[in-house]
Amino acid sequence: IEEAEKFRIEYWALEEAKLRRMPKPKPLATRVALVTGAGSGIGRAIARRLVAEGACVVVADLDAKSGAAVAEELGGPDRAVAVTVDVTSEEQVAGAFAAAALAFGGVDLVVNNAGISISKPLADTTVRDWDLQHAIMARGSFLVAREAARVMRAQGFGGDLVYIASKNAVFAGPNNVAYSAAKADQAHQVRLLAAELGEDGIRVNGVNPDGVVRGSGIFAGGWGAQRAATYGIEEEKLGEFYAQRTLLKREVLPEHVANAVFALTGGELTHTTGLHIPVDAGVAGAFLR
Ligand code: NAD
Repeated sequence: IEEAEKFRIEYWALEEAKLRRMPKPKPLATRVALVTGAGSGIGRAIARRLVAEGACVVVADLDAKSGAAVAEELGGPDRAVAVTVDVTSEEQVAGAFAAAALAFGGVDLVVNNAGISISKPLADTTVRDWDLQHAIMARGSFLVAREAARVMRAQGFGGDLVYIASKNAVFAGPNNVAYSAAKADQAHQVRLLAAELGEDGIRVNGVNPDGVVRGSGIFAGGWGAQRAATYGIEEEKLGEFYAQRTLLKREVLPEHVANAVFALTGGELTHTTGLHIPVDAGVAGAFLR
């Protein structure tokens, strides 16, 4: 018993020492964020919210034009800079973080948001579809996370990594096996990296949206038409259709996803890592009729 007690005391002394070394989260007004896919939709809303809370933001998007427009809209070089990046490329991802260091001296909040949706039945899904979907969302978010961890570890004061995954990472829907499998990969990266990066004070969390139709390039670019056909409704009615199937009977907008990112990174949830927050007005929380 004495040995066990001695062990217990030593163990907790070590744990306490670890906690004391643990960096404290900083207020958003002192932070620099890099948001992938921030040229449109959900990413743009996240970037806008983070700037509104005082952070400086790197708008990292494949589409140079929309990225530049968002950076301009957010106040220009003092608050937001645009970096053109294809997240599937190791070199370009490293380049985006280098650009962030140049513009704002570092990065301590990174949002893995870039994505596309190839929405097809299994029989029509090609190897190219599968590979592209996974290259952008599974490999892309891994590359961004790896670079984020490298930078944050070197800075030595921790940080936040947030994945915009999806309800589809957990729940099944028809006709998008490649997309949903890549989202499930992202969701597991959240758990794995929360476990690996916790000691460095880097918190890793996920947000799982669903049905963000308005403002979403993914929906406008074909997914909306496909979904509408699946449900047998007109595409213009899709937002309302999604709202009606939620528990709250509310449409989910990009701003609501941004609210969740703020909740996770704004300084209150200091002891939360490895969590997924659904932002779906209550779809994932209940069986659908
Ligand atoms: P969106 O098309 O408006 O935004 C996606 C952005 O990602 C675009 O600006 C696009 O240029 C960028 N992008 C695409 N490929 C890229 C690449 N290789 N490198 C860098 N940037 C790239 O779509 P959105 O609806 O705002 O979606 C944002 C994220 O939210 C995606 O990951 C999506 O899967 C996820 N999501 C959306 C919904 C929804 O209902 N809209 C639901 C669940 C999850």
